Amino acid sequence: RNNTEVWKKWPKANLSPNARVVLERRYLKQENDQKCETPEVMFYRVASVIAGAEEKYGKNPQEIEDLTKEFYTVMANLEFMPNSPTLMNAGRDLGQLSACFVLPVGDSMEDIFDALKHAAIIHKSGGGTGFNFSRLRQKNSMVRSTGGVASGPVSFMKVFNAATEAVKQGGTRRGANMGILRIDHPDILEFISCKEDNRDINNFNVSVAVTESFMKAVENDTEYDLIDPHSGKSAGKLPAKQVFAKIVDHAWRNGEPGMIFIDRMNRDNPTPHIGVIEATNPCGEQPLLPNEACNLGSINLKLMAAEKDGKTVIDWERLGYVTRLATRFLDDVIDINQYPLPVIEEMVKGNRKIGLGVMGFADLMILLQTSYISEESTAFAEKIMEFIRTESRIESQRLAKERGTFPNYQGSIYDGKIELRNATLTTVAPTGTISMICGASSGVEPLFAVAYTKTVMDGTALIEVNPLFEDYAHKYGFYSKELMSKIAERGNVFGLPEVPEWVQKVFVTAQEISPEWHIRIQAAFQKYTDNAVSKTINFANTATCEDVAEAFRLAFELGCKGITVYRDGSREQQVLSAGTKE
Ligand code: ADP
Repeated sequence: RNNTEVWKKWPKANLSPNARVVLERRYLKQENDQKCETPEVMFYRVASVIAGAEEKYGKNPQEIEDLTKEFYTVMANLEFMPNSPTLMNAGRDLGQLSACFVLPVGDSMEDIFDALKHAAIIHKSGGGTGFNFSRLRQKNSMVRSTGGVASGPVSFMKVFNAATEAVKQGGTRRGANMGILRIDHPDILEFISCKEDNRDINNFNVSVAVTESFMKAVENDTEYDLIDPHSGKSAGKLPAKQVFAKIVDHAWRNGEPGMIFIDRMNRDNPTPHIGVIEATNPCGEQPLLPNEACNLGSINLKLMAAEKDGKTVIDWERLGYVTRLATRFLDDVIDINQYPLPVIEEMVKGNRKIGLGVMGFADLMILLQTSYISEESTAFAEKIMEFIRTESRIESQRLAKERGTFPNYQGSIYDGKIELRNATLTTVAPTGTISMICGASSGVEPLFAVAYTKTVMDGTALIEVNPLFEDYAHKYGFYSKELMSKIAERGNVFGLPEVPEWVQKVFVTAQEISPEWHIRIQAAFQKYTDNAVSKTINFANTATCEDVAEAFRLAFELGCKGITVYRDGSREQQVLSAGTKE
C-alpha cells in the first residue's frame, strides 16, 4: 500500500536510552551501513506486514490499516512485544519470524547432518533449536555398513555445537540449542556430565527427559531399565537413586543438566494423533513435536496497572483487549512467516500453535505493593494467567469461526469440546531481550537487583536504580544519594534500616527468595499455561545437593513441566551478578 507515512500521526514509542541501544544493535533495518529505521518505523514495518496477512481472509485496505494501527499502538506503547525474530525479520529478506524450533535427529549419518544443516539455517535467522538425541545408538555400538563403532549422542552434540559457533559469527544473534536425552538412553551417564567441562558444548542448554516411572523408581530406590534405541530392547539397568543424585550433583555444580518432565508434556500434547513431544526449544518453555516451530509474544504486565479510587489495581479491561489483539497478531504471524523448510511449514500450519505470555510480573507486584514471595503473589499469578488463557481462547474461537479451526483439530484433545484456531495459546518465555526493550522485569522472574553499578565503555561507573524503587523512595521519604550507592554495592535492600520493612519485602530480589518460592511461582503460572514456563530456580552459593534434590522433587510434585536451577557463583563467568553488571 502506498501510504507508508500514516504512522507519523500515531503515538511515539516511549523507549529508554538502554532500549534504543538494544534496538540499534540488531533490530533496526540498516541500509548501506546507515541507520535508516527509527523504532517507530520498525514497529510500523512489523505491524503492517503482520496485518497484511489478513488480506487473504478478505479484509479490505481500510480494515488492514485500522488493524495495523492497533498492532502498532500496542507495540509502540510497549504493552505487547512479539519475539525477537518477528521484530528483526518481518518485512525483510529473511522473513523468518519464530523463536522456537524442534528438529528430529535420526540415527544415520544422513539424518544427523540434515538436522545440523537445518539448525544452521534456523540459527542464521535468529531462531533457537531443540533436539532430542535419544534415537542415536549408544557409544561403541556397531555400525553395520562400515564395521566401525558409533560415537554416541554426546560426540554428535559437540559437532552441532561447533557448527553453531561458526554460524553465530554471521547470524542475527548467537545461536541457542537445547540438547535432550531420555533418562533410559544407555549413554545417560555420559550425557549428565557432558557440560562438566563447559567448553565443547557451550552453545547448548542440556536437559534430561525424565519419565514418571523413573521418578517413582527414585522414590522407591529401585533399578530402572535402559533401552537400546536401535532394538528397543533392554540394555541393562541402573539404580534410579544414584542416577538422580548424579543429575543433582551436576546441576549443583554449574546448573546443568536441567530436567524436563516428558510424560507431563505429552499429557498436555494437544495433537497426540500427529506426533509425540520429545523436546523443547532452548529455554524450555516451548515443548514441540519434531519439525514444529512456534512464534511467541509477551504482554507487559508492568503497564497493566491502573489507578482506581486512589488505589493501584490491575486494568483487566486493557489486559483483555491486549490479550485478544496479541492472539490475533500471533495467528497472523503464522500465515506471513517464511519457513526454513517445507516440512516445518506443513507442521506449523497444521497445528497453528502460538505462545502468548507475560513479562513485567515482578514489576506489577511492586506496583500493587505485593511481595513476590506471598500467597497474594501466587494467587495473582494464577488469576492473571487464567484470565489471559480465557481471553486468548475467546479470540482463538472467534478466529476459528472466521477462518476455520487448526487443520489437525480432528482427533486433537479439543475435538468436540471447543473449536480453536490454535492448538496451543499460552507460553511464558524468558523475554531476555524484549523485556529490555520494554523496560520491564523479565518474564515471571523476580527483580535481579534493586540497584547495581554498571561499568560503561570508558570505564566510568554508573549507578542504575530500579525506577520503581526510586519512586517508592521519594514517595515514602527515604531517598538519598548515599542510600542509592549503598544499595548498588550490595544489590538488595534486605535488612537495611533506612528502608521500611514492608518496602524491603516488596523489593525482594532473586537471591533472597527461597527455591521453594521460585518453584511455587513457576507452578502457579504453569497451571494456566498450555505450553511451559521459563524460570530459573535460584540458590544461594551455600545451598547443598540435598537442597537441589528437594527442588527437583517439588517441581515434579507441583506440576511443573521442567526445572532449571542456578546456584549463585557456580559458573566461572556469571553473566550478571547482583550489585555489579558489566
Ligand atoms: P526475546 O526476548 O529475544 O524475544 P527470549 O529470551 O524470550 O527471546 O527467548 C525465547 C526463545 O527464543 C528461546 O527459548 C529460544 O528458543 C529463542 N532464543 C533466545 N535467544 C536466542 C539466541 N541467541 N539464538 C537463538 N535463539 C534464541
